[in-house]
Amino acid sequence: MFTGARIKLTGWYLLIIMTITVFFSFAIFFILSGEIDRGYTRLEHRYEQVGGTLPDDPNRPTLLDPQILDTAKDNIRTNLIYIDLLIFVASATAGYFLAGRTLKPISVMISEENRFITDASHELRTPITALRTSLEVNLRDKNLDFKEARNLLQDNLHEVEQLQALTDNLLLLAKGSNDNDALNVGQADLKEVVESVVTKLTPLARKKKITLESKVGEITLKADSDKLTRLLVILVDNAIKYSSKETKIEVTGKKTDHRVMIGVSDQGIGIKDSDIVHIFDRFYRADSSHAGGTGYGLGLAIAKKIVGQHGGTITVKSGLGKGTTFTILLPLT
Ligand code: ADP
Repeated sequence: MFTGARIKLTGWYLLIIMTITVFFSFAIFFILSGEIDRGYTRLEHRYEQVGGTLPDDPNRPTLLDPQILDTAKDNIRTNLIYIDLLIFVASATAGYFLAGRTLKPISVMISEENRFITDASHELRTPITALRTSLEVNLRDKNLDFKEARNLLQDNLHEVEQLQALTDNLLLLAKGSNDNDALNVGQADLKEVVESVVTKLTPLARKKKITLESKVGEITLKADSDKLTRLLVILVDNAIKYSSKETKIEVTGKKTDHRVMIGVSDQGIGIKDSDIVHIFDRFYRADSSHAGGTGYGLGLAIAKKIVGQHGGTITVKSGLGKGTTFTILLPLT
């Protein structure tokens, strides 16, 4: 697809360059021809002033031979044609190269979008197929009693909720990565945000007897509180998912210069170095993550997007079997 577009773009570059070149060649030719004609006329006048009798003077100098004018014009014409041909070849080569460079980011973007669509369809297809199979099998079961049907509906509802969460996340990610329109920026109270996240996720942590601690000072920053909450929910939820029982998770927050540093540390399974480079990619899940249960590998991609929308950075340090710390730096204003 892009070879065709590249050739077309090269064609357009060539058309523009050659139109200008040919226009200038004609202009140069007419200007030079005019100059030659005028110079020749001046020479004729001078020759007549010193007694020459043009046009039939048998002794006139070769310089005044009209043939010389045509030869000069022919030479100019030929040289201009050669120069135009040279410009054509050079522009075609440079144009093809430039067209490639122009189209490259578009081609990268399109293949990324295609990958996103393929991955998303794949992720959606698996739970939908499971849901359908479960419904079909149970519908065929003539002995299905009310209690079993209720359990089935409950299971299905859980699947549907997961699908809904997945589609919500997909929609959020599908919006351009630099799309800041969706941000609702105001004065955000970090302590309040972290406490709401801790309150929300404490029941989940309790199931694994994990201690969830918040060590955040009084900090207000210019940010979207809802997005900040979502970001911290993703990180703390992951910390719970990928930690074993009776461990500790700590959320810290402090001011440094003009920035806020937020940390989420756990004592969980850790991340391999080879995985660390990929964990912020959409749909990436480390093999070890299956121990943490279900997930679509979208959380950290969303986290990175939210941090990026706020003009901040997110980094991770991890030791296998020791734990992981995510550090976020956000500008105060
Ligand atoms: P998900 O958790 O749905 O798999 P994420 O995008 O949130 O997707 O995380 C991507 C991967 O990063 C996870 O599958 C897991 O392998 C790894 N990961 C994220 N957070 C942690 C953590 N706190 N400890 C260990 N591994 C983690």
